[in-house]
Amino acid sequence: MHASRPEVIYLDNNATTRVAPEVFEAMVPFLTEYYGNPSSAYSFGKRVEGHLIEARKKVAALLGATEREIIFTSCGTESDNAAIWSALQTTAIAGKKHIVTTQVEHSAIMNQTEALERMGFGVTRLPVGPDGTLNLADVENAIRDDTAIVSIMWANNETGVLFPVDQIATIVKNKRAQFTEANPKNKGPFFHTDAVQTPGKIDLRHVAQSDIDFLSLSGHKLHAPKGVGVLYAKKKTRLVPYVIGGGQERGKRGGTENVASIVGLGRAAELALERLEDEQVRVRTLRDRFEKTLLETLPDIYINGNREQRLPNTSNIAFDFVEAEAILLDLDLAGICCSSGSACTTGSLDPSHVLTAMGLSHARARGCVRFSFGHYNTDADIDYALEVIPPIIAKRRAMSPLSRDHRDNFAYDVEAAREKEEKLMAATMAAINE
Ligand code: PLP
Repeated sequence: MHASRPEVIYLDNNATTRVAPEVFEAMVPFLTEYYGNPSSAYSFGKRVEGHLIEARKKVAALLGATEREIIFTSCGTESDNAAIWSALQTTAIAGKKHIVTTQVEHSAIMNQTEALERMGFGVTRLPVGPDGTLNLADVENAIRDDTAIVSIMWANNETGVLFPVDQIATIVKNKRAQFTEANPKNKGPFFHTDAVQTPGKIDLRHVAQSDIDFLSLSGHKLHAPKGVGVLYAKKKTRLVPYVIGGGQERGKRGGTENVASIVGLGRAAELALERLEDEQVRVRTLRDRFEKTLLETLPDIYINGNREQRLPNTSNIAFDFVEAEAILLDLDLAGICCSSGSACTTGSLDPSHVLTAMGLSHARARGCVRFSFGHYNTDADIDYALEVIPPIIAKRRAMSPLSRDHRDNFAYDVEAAREKEEKLMAATMAAINE
C-alpha cells in the first residue's frame, strides 16, 4: 500500500461536489445576519430579496437567459418532475397522454415516468447504441400527436455520453408547429432536458437561443450545496406549478426560498463560467491520462460510452472478470471515492440500466466503475489512483472464479442482449398469463 495514503481522493464528482469555499463564504451572511423572509414587507426582509435577484441573474447568465426564465427549486429531481408535470397539465385539455424519453435517464425521470405509466400515461423509452448514443430518427418517429413532452437528458451521469439536445429540441419544435397548424388546441409536445451533469463542463450559454423549453440543474453538482435546484422555462412557455403554495417564484413554485443556498448557487454559477476552460482542458487531460495509463497497464478493460461525445470529466470503465462492488470496497480502503452504476436492492445486485441498455452483458456491466473528476482534483490524485488501481484489479482477478475462459459471458453484443431480454420478457409474460 502507498506509504502516505491520503485521507480522501474524491473521484466521484458526478455524484456530488465539494462546496466551493467562495460559495460557502457568499452563503454565510444569509444564515447568520440576513435571515429575513424575502416576502416580508419590512426592509430587513426586502434586503434579502435583492440578493435573490442577483443570484437569479448569475444563474441566468450560465444559460444566456433572462431572470424571468429561472425558477429555483429544491433539487434536480424536483425540476425534472416539475417539467413533466407542467407539460402534462398544459396539454391535458388536448387529451395528450404520451411521453417520449430514453432508456438511460436518471431515476428522477425514470421512476416518475414509471409512476405515470401506472396512472395510465403512455411512455416510449428510446434505446441507445452500444456507445450510448441516440439515433435522431428514433426521436422523430416516436413523437405522436398525443405526445405531451419529450424528456431527454443532456449528459448521462454514468457514462458522460452527450445527447444532441439542440437538434432534438428543434425536431420537437417542428413537430409541435405541425400539430398546432392542424389543430390550434394541440399545444404540445414540449422539450425538456435534464442538464444536471453539464454546468461547468460544457458551455450552456446558447440555451435561451435554442428550442429547449425546459431544462433542469442541481446545485450540488456544481460546487453549490445540496437541496437547491433550478428549472429553466423558456420565455412564453407555460409553466404550471408542481409545488403549489405561496406566490414565491412569481407563482411558479411555492415555498419560502432557500435564500442562503440560492445565493450560493448564484456564486457557483459564476465560478462554473470562470472555470469552464479548466474543466475542458485541465480536467479532461487528467481524465485522458488516467484512461490511457489504465488501458496500457491492464488487460481486458474497456471504456464505456462514445469517446468523443462525452463530458470531459467522466470515465466509466469495465474491468472484466471482477465485481465492481469488490473493487469499490478495496478502493474505499485505499481512500478513493468512486462508484458503480449498480443499484443494490434487497441484497441482489442489479447491473446498471444505462450499461445494459447499451448492450453490455450482465457479466461485464457488473464489473463497471465510474470515475468522475473535477476542479479540485490534481495530478497527484491521478498518480495515486494509477498506483493503487492496477494491483487491486490483479488481486481481485486472481481471486475471481471468472477468467478469459468465460469470455463468452462478456460479449458486447447489443442484438444478442436485446434478444435475450425479449425472450426473458416473453417467458415472464407467459408465466404470468398461465
Ligand atoms: N439528473 C441527473 C442526471 C443526476 O445525475 C442527478 C443526481 O445524481 C439528478 C438528476 C438528481 O439531482 P438531485 O440530487 O439534485 O435531485
